[in-house]
Amino acid sequence: MKKSYSIVLGYENNNKQKNLGRLDEKGSDHGQWFYQMVCQECKHQYKANGSDIHLRKCPACQGGRP
Ligand SMILES: [Zn+2]
Repeated sequence: MKKSYSIVLGYENNNKQKNLGRLDEKGSDHGQWFYQMVCQECKHQYKANGSDIHLRKCPACQGGRP
């Protein structure tokens, strides 16, 4: 099974959204987990599905989904 590097702790996507690690909570997509994300611009923190990390935008300052 191929693993995406975007779920690695400390990964940062092109929108300056950083992965702080997996949460002990199932995600809203099938077979996914939630990950704690932080915006490097405004320090807002939110949860994201593992499959979404690479394309997430900050809900606070980039108009992304909460
Ligand atoms: Zn932000």
